[in-house]
Amino acid sequence: MKRYSSFAIVREAFRNHSGWKKAWESPIPKRKYDVVIVGAGGHGLATAYYLGKNHGITNVAVLEKGWLGGGNTGRNTTIIRSNYLQDPSAAIYEKSRSLYENLSQDLNYNLMFSPRGVMMLAQTEHEVRGYKRTAMANALQGVSTEYINPEKVKDLCPIINLSGPRYPVLGALWQARGGTARHDAVAWGYARKCSDMGMHILQQKEVTSIISKNGKIGGVTTTDGDILCDKLCIVVAGHSGALAEMGGFRLPLESVALQALVSEPIKPVMDVVVMANTVHGYMSQSDKGEMVIGGGADGYNNYTQRGSFHHIEETVRSLVETFPMISRLKMLRQWGGIVDMTGDRSPIISKTPLENCFINCGWGTGGFKAIPGSGWATAEMVATGEAGPLASPFSLNRFKEGRFIDESVAAGVAH
Ligand SMILES: Cc1cc2nc3c(=O)[nH]c(=O)nc-3n(C[C@H](O)[C@H](O)[C@H](O)COP(=O)(O)OP(=O)(O)OC[C@H]3O[C@@H](n4cnc5c(N)ncnc54)[C@H](O)[C@@H]3O)c2cc1C
Repeated sequence: MKRYSSFAIVREAFRNHSGWKKAWESPIPKRKYDVVIVGAGGHGLATAYYLGKNHGITNVAVLEKGWLGGGNTGRNTTIIRSNYLQDPSAAIYEKSRSLYENLSQDLNYNLMFSPRGVMMLAQTEHEVRGYKRTAMANALQGVSTEYINPEKVKDLCPIINLSGPRYPVLGALWQARGGTARHDAVAWGYARKCSDMGMHILQQKEVTSIISKNGKIGGVTTTDGDILCDKLCIVVAGHSGALAEMGGFRLPLESVALQALVSEPIKPVMDVVVMANTVHGYMSQSDKGEMVIGGGADGYNNYTQRGSFHHIEETVRSLVETFPMISRLKMLRQWGGIVDMTGDRSPIISKTPLENCFINCGWGTGGFKAIPGSGWATAEMVATGEAGPLASPFSLNRFKEGRFIDESVAAGVAH
C-alpha cells in the first residue's frame, strides 16, 4: 500500500488524483480463517490490527452486517480521556489514550487527534468530593489529571456560566491531555492497515448464527453463507446480547439507545471539552464549527438507532444553564446509537463458555476512547487464548465472583 504523505498529495495533484488506491479491498471471502471477528466497529478493527501487528496473525476476517464504522464508532461524540476511578479502568483507558497520541503516525492516517483538554464539572458537593477522590486515585495510578477551581474553569472555557440557576460550577476534574479525534477516521485508519496486512474486511455480511460442536467454536453462518474459523471474537457493542444468544450463553448487560446532536457551525467559541454531568449534557466544538452535544441514554431497553424529540429538548434545556449562548443556536441534526451497559459500567473482555469464542463488549456510553487499548488487550487474549494484565480484570467471571469494577461515577452518565 502506498503511504499517505505530502509528497503523495503533490504527486497526485499532477496526475488528476488517478493514482490513489482503495483504502481497503472488498475481497471474496475464504471458506476458513484462523480468526473471525464479528463487528467492524473501532474495537473489532483495532483487535484485528493488533492481532496482525503484535502477534503476526493475519489470516483474519472482520464481518460487518452494515458498513464499517457505521455502528457506534461513527455515531459518538469522540471524547477521549482516561480519568476513571478504579485501577483496572485507569490502566486500560490510559493505555488507550497514550496509543491515541501517536496513532495517526502508526496507521499513516490522520485521525485528527486533538488533545485539547477535557473537564468534568463539579456542580454539587457530592461531585466535588467524587472528583477530588478521582484526582487522587489518578495521581496514584500515574494518570495526569487535576481538580481545578471555578476561576480556572472560566479561564479555560470563557463561554461557561459559573452561576447557573440551579447548579453553580464549584470546580472541575481536568485532564489536559484528554480531547477528541475524528471517529470515522479511527475505523477507516485501522481498516486500511488491516486490509494492507491481507486481512479480509467483509461488509454487508450479517452473522445470523454461530456454528459450534461439542462446546467448541467452528464458525458462523452469515447472510452470505457459512464461514469457518478456529477462533471467533464477538465485538458488536449494542448487539452483544443477540450474538451471545446465538452462541448459547447470556451476558449481564442491557442495550439502550444513546443520543447526540450538533448545532449549525459557528466561529470558534470553545477549545476544550466540557461535561456537565449533574444537569446532564456535554459539549465540544468540532473542527467544522458545529457544537457537538451529547445527551443521555434512553430510560428503557431498546434497539432504536435514531434520535427522539424529547431528548433534544431535555439535553438542550439542561445545557442552556451552563452555556446560555447556545439558546441562540439552531440544531442541525441528531442521531442515536445502541450501547451495551453492564451493571458496574465497565466493559467485558473475556473468554466465553464456548471454547475459542471470545467477547469484547459492554463499553456502554464511553468506548470510543478505549478503542486502541481495547483492541490491544483483546488481540492478546485471542492470540494467546488467555487474557493479559490489561484485559483479565474485565472477565465475565467478575459477575460470578462479585468482583465489580464500579465506574458508575466516572462513566455512568458521562462519556
Ligand atoms: C451518541 C453516542 C455518543 C457517544 N459518545 C462517546 C464519547 O464521547 N466518547 C467515548 O469514548 N464513547 C462514546 N460513545 C460510545 C462509543 O461510541 C462506543 O462505546 C464504541 O464506539 C463501541 O465501539 P464498537 O466497535 O464496540 O461498536 P460499534 O462501532 O457499534 O461496532 C459494532 C459493529 O457490529 C456490527 N454488528 C452488529 N451485529 C452484527 C452481526 N450480527 N453481524 C455482523 N456485524 C454485526 C454493527 O453493525 C457495528 O458496525 C458514544 C456512543 C453513542 C451512541
